[in-house]
Amino acid sequence: MSKPGDLLTLTDRGLYCAPADLYIDPWRPVDRALITHAHSDHARWGMGHYLAHRDSLPVLRLRLGQDISAEGVAYGESRLVNGVRISFHPAGHIIGSAQIRLEYRGEVWVVSGDYKTEGDGLSPAFVPVRCHTFITESTFGLPVYRWRPQAAVMGEINAWWAANAAEGRASLLAAYSLGKAQRILKHLDPVIGPIFTHGAIAQTHAALRAAGIELPPEQVVIAQGPDQHRKADFRQALILAPPGAIDSAWSRRLQPFSLGIASGWMRLRGARRRRAADRGFVLSDHADWDGLNDAIRATGAQRVLVTHGYTDLFARWLRSQGLEADVLQTRFEGDEDESS
Ligand SMILES: [Zn+2]
Ligand SMILES: [Zn+2]
Repeated sequence: MSKPGDLLTLTDRGLYCAPADLYIDPWRPVDRALITHAHSDHARWGMGHYLAHRDSLPVLRLRLGQDISAEGVAYGESRLVNGVRISFHPAGHIIGSAQIRLEYRGEVWVVSGDYKTEGDGLSPAFVPVRCHTFITESTFGLPVYRWRPQAAVMGEINAWWAANAAEGRASLLAAYSLGKAQRILKHLDPVIGPIFTHGAIAQTHAALRAAGIELPPEQVVIAQGPDQHRKADFRQALILAPPGAIDSAWSRRLQPFSLGIASGWMRLRGARRRRAADRGFVLSDHADWDGLNDAIRATGAQRVLVTHGYTDLFARWLRSQGLEADVLQTRFEGDEDESS
């Protein structure tokens, strides 16, 4: 929904800022891309140059190649490109995630990418940025989605693990490898038993640690090759794995285990059973209903453009609240259920 004079317009390559001649999270190759965060639907291959928060760079390089042309900035640092002032601000979604603020001739737009409003103790918490136009996601933009505090959910996860360990059964927990896995690792209670990760998660963590980002220690369950861990090793353990690794030869080596899934979708009745999990933990790196509404209100924006998620319903809700709201058809996805 573009209007004449808009600072950002929707093109077939992505969100385009004409005065600065650059794109935000483009889905087709362009010369210059600003990247909100390293999830694959926002950070794609083939851009001439990437500008992102510096903590996004390790994963961008891991996923897109060490030879990409990429530059990192700090939160709050600003750049001037053809009269457009560009700055990155904490989005609280995953390590390195940023909202991108654009200011041109007194007009301010903020592209939030993906965000959550609860601080996760891992990266700086979401900061509302005042603007005229706010572009928001709506992955969990229905009133049914209300999260409990992280401490309560982590308490449940640790208690589930301790109960399994007491019965000599491994705790296999499915969690998205970029975001959820670091967040859970950070808040596990290592007194309960050893902590292992699947190779895909360990690889992400190695890249983050190499860039100086601190994460608690973990052991790695090697994906292939000689099994270096005796089976009994896993009976007291919690093992973090991407959802795609759950029903595989890799996971069968961990038996006997209890399977848990950590995802915002676990809020839906039946989601746990459909995934054949023993336990579902409602934990998301996206804002819940209240988080979305609080964040939007705090920007002071009169105009809100809604991307991926319950776009139509959420835009209609915002209009009923007196805002000028429209759907923006992007190619972003709710990454909560990606298999990697
Ligand atoms: Zn994301
Ligand atoms: Zn997304």
